[in-house]
Amino acid sequence: MHGLSHRFLHVSGLCPFSGRESPYEDARYVVLGVPYDRTSTYRSGSKFAPAAIREASANIETYSMRTGVDVEDLKICDLGDLNVTDSPSETIERIRLVVGEIISDGKIPVMLGGEHSISLGGVKAIGKDATVVDFDAHMDLRDGYNGEPLSHAAVMRRIAEHIGPERIVQIGTRAVCKEELEFAKANHVSGITALQLHKNPMENSLGLLREMLRGRRQIYLTVDMDVLDPAYAPAVGNPEPEGLSSNVLLSLLEEVCKLNVIAVDLTEVSPHYDTGATAVQATKVLFEVLCLTEQRRRNVR
Ligand code: MN
Ligand code: MN
Repeated sequence: MHGLSHRFLHVSGLCPFSGRESPYEDARYVVLGVPYDRTSTYRSGSKFAPAAIREASANIETYSMRTGVDVEDLKICDLGDLNVTDSPSETIERIRLVVGEIISDGKIPVMLGGEHSISLGGVKAIGKDATVVDFDAHMDLRDGYNGEPLSHAAVMRRIAEHIGPERIVQIGTRAVCKEELEFAKANHVSGITALQLHKNPMENSLGLLREMLRGRRQIYLTVDMDVLDPAYAPAVGNPEPEGLSSNVLLSLLEEVCKLNVIAVDLTEVSPHYDTGATAVQATKVLFEVLCLTEQRRRNVR
């Protein structure tokens, strides 16, 4: 009997995301770690992020005051980590296959990166009428980086080629090159820069975001954690000053999650540079996104 066994009383098992687990068949949210940092350009180590985020997720409160939803009550299954390879194209293909299976089983995939290039595999697994909402300091719209077309610095360019540039909305932009700006302008990539967010009252920014997302039926949400200011999230691959506060990010996510979010990823946490703060921020972002998505689902029914 469990109640009498010291094994069950005094030993916690290995740590799945949020500490709770539903069987895959019953789950609505399916967590997949992608320990992959093969194309990192500065501070590598994001392949250690899935484990760091899982650990943080077992050590913060699960109740969301923003939504009144408790992560503890959500049906979450943590699949574990993808077997990644040295080949960017093969890794992205494996992501596409696994995420595609999760989506066709009627569930919401939640990928823990890894670096940002993993989003290409996720986006390739969804239909082409979805919109990619990308929180990031960078545009990632270069045609390639150091000769690598599947670099994390080029992921949104590859996604633009796949799904159409007008289906990308970038929020928090503040670190760009001219090539990216020209591409975004010529190809109608929309977005709200960090400067716009800093200069305008929050209500205006939320209104602008609402306008940009009007009529978009399905959302693929990707959060590159460097969208936050390094003061909030110091341990990222390419830190960039003048970023968002956690509250601003969560308020913007609240607006995005009013729409039908069909897949989520969170990338670029590099735990060896962390005090623990970044992994906790990442967990908080994911918890709130899950609770907001669940709240919408309950309201829509
Ligand atoms: Mn990025
Ligand atoms: Mn970035």
